[in-house]
Amino acid sequence: MVKAQTAQTLQDSGAQILLANTYHLLLRPGAEVFRRMGGIHRFMSWPGSVLTDSGGYQIFSLPHSREITEEGAVFQSYVDKSRVLLSPELSIETQVAIASDIMMALDQCVPATADQATARAAVDLTHRWAARSLAARGDSPQSLFAIVQGALFPELRRESADRLAEMPFDGFAIGGLAVGEDRSEREDMCELTAERMPRDRPRYLMGVGTPLDLLEAVHRGLDLFDCSIPTLLAKRGGVFTSRGFVQLRRGVYKHADEPLDPACGCPTCQRHSRGYLHYLTKIQETLGWHLLGQHNLHFYHRLMREIRQAILADEFLAFYREKRALFQQSDVDNPAAPQRARETRPLALGQYEVHVAAEGFASIRHIQSREIMHACTAPIDEARRLYVEQAQLAERLRLAASEEAAAAETLVIWDVGLGAAANAMAAIRCCEEQAALHPVRSLRIVSFDNDLDSLRLAFGNDHLFHYLRHAGPAGILNNGAWQSSAHAGLSWQLVSGDFFVTLSQALPGPDLIFYDLFSSKTHAQAWALASFRLLLAACGDKGVELFTYTASTAGRVALLGAGFYAAKGCSTDDKPESTIAFTRNALVHGTARRHELLGAAWLARWKRSGAKFPIDLPESERAAFEQTILEHEQFRGL
Ligand SMILES: [Zn+2]
Repeated sequence: MVKAQTAQTLQDSGAQILLANTYHLLLRPGAEVFRRMGGIHRFMSWPGSVLTDSGGYQIFSLPHSREITEEGAVFQSYVDKSRVLLSPELSIETQVAIASDIMMALDQCVPATADQATARAAVDLTHRWAARSLAARGDSPQSLFAIVQGALFPELRRESADRLAEMPFDGFAIGGLAVGEDRSEREDMCELTAERMPRDRPRYLMGVGTPLDLLEAVHRGLDLFDCSIPTLLAKRGGVFTSRGFVQLRRGVYKHADEPLDPACGCPTCQRHSRGYLHYLTKIQETLGWHLLGQHNLHFYHRLMREIRQAILADEFLAFYREKRALFQQSDVDNPAAPQRARETRPLALGQYEVHVAAEGFASIRHIQSREIMHACTAPIDEARRLYVEQAQLAERLRLAASEEAAAAETLVIWDVGLGAAANAMAAIRCCEEQAALHPVRSLRIVSFDNDLDSLRLAFGNDHLFHYLRHAGPAGILNNGAWQSSAHAGLSWQLVSGDFFVTLSQALPGPDLIFYDLFSSKTHAQAWALASFRLLLAACGDKGVELFTYTASTAGRVALLGAGFYAAKGCSTDDKPESTIAFTRNALVHGTARRHELLGAAWLARWKRSGAKFPIDLPESERAAFEQTILEHEQFRGL
């Protein structure tokens, strides 16, 4: 069912194939209806082809009521609340009953931003389900397509494509994109996956996209697409035209007498003025949705026809260049004003300014010290790697099947140095992604900072800091706190003031610390022995792990001297190592055992180092301090 269209208008627009959602049809009207009616073509009076999805994607989009097992996806029916196990076999059985022309094998879809372990497990399960789907097809004449998974990991994508290509499928699809990644990530994944998909069978990119997305994907080898954008945008007054994208609700069209798109031959453009369509969409009349949808569908089908002609005439590259420029334009004849307003947004605030790197990503720079938060990698990418992934946040949040969400202890993150909130947002996104996949523990993020200017500045330039397009940062800036409306257990609060003053009053104590204060040149106290002693005291007897970007000898020895254990962290954008510190109980409880403790080699380097002591250590205490380090439990026996 394409919203607000009839079988006739779809046929007229040039549609040859419709997509039907197995998940919805399974629940209502149910497979039996199709068996009795003689299949979906007769049921909806559609003479063209029909592709049914496996039902998997819809289930993975459900926020809570589902669970993935080897057997299949278990979910609760929204019709009668019963539990349904959608196995590969039931998915095929339902698609056979629907009698589509192309069936899709059930896959496990994870967010594009999933971590590697999650993505690997989903790929393996998807392959086992693919084999079961083939077996379940039996001698049905319907085509069956497999779905490549692998999130944003090139090797996993390639492996998934290669392994599925060895099985006798009639076509191959790329799944798990258009769910959280950015455009360039998606295009890279498409390109390297499409290269591995058999050329003699259809290559299908699921759930994509805008005209520009389609053009880019065809350029990378894809043939087949599905997307609700043409009708979804039509509902809101958005149309694709030969003069760029046009938002018809804009007041500038109130008196516009010209056709929607003079270059278009669709019934809407033949008959109606922009002014009339503006009026219909303004009052949210369904007819406006229908008429604009009809135009957008015509636009898409004409685009695909022209692409096919250009490929056959061996002129695709020229066609691609010309259309690419057009699709990046917005309303050539009546350009909107906001772009001018955007350029006047302030690029500096208080002690901070926006810095745009040559690679194109933006960071915040401390004006006086010239120190940039995340200089070589986009802030949100480094936040994910250095803090969220090293802390294994996804695994910590995941609840075992036996655990009840209400009974599990809340995980507390101290986000020390809120800055432009990249670290906190990376944690929030991680929690939201995990909650979309399975039950999770509650997560409380406590951010510390004495100055909200860097967040305010980045937030005001969210076209450069996309990760801030979320309700959380607005809540922090306006109320000092935010509570997720989607996940009751997810909350974020701000503690303003000097961290080393406020930390003793901050309750509850942390499980994880993201320690991202400025370097000792700008903020000496952050790396002082006395500061880490205070921090260790605030950890109480919890097993706490701390992650920080520095690998400096003075910083590490201050952590050790205060009583933390210190281990090697992952590389950062400009250094081969960072640092992980943890309390003794983190070792006792086992969570910290995976880290590689600093050992004899580091100790030898430290003895030779010119920065051997914490910056705040008086000379008179040096000998005693040296003894403390040498006797530290982690160096015993070396
Ligand atoms: Zn039209």
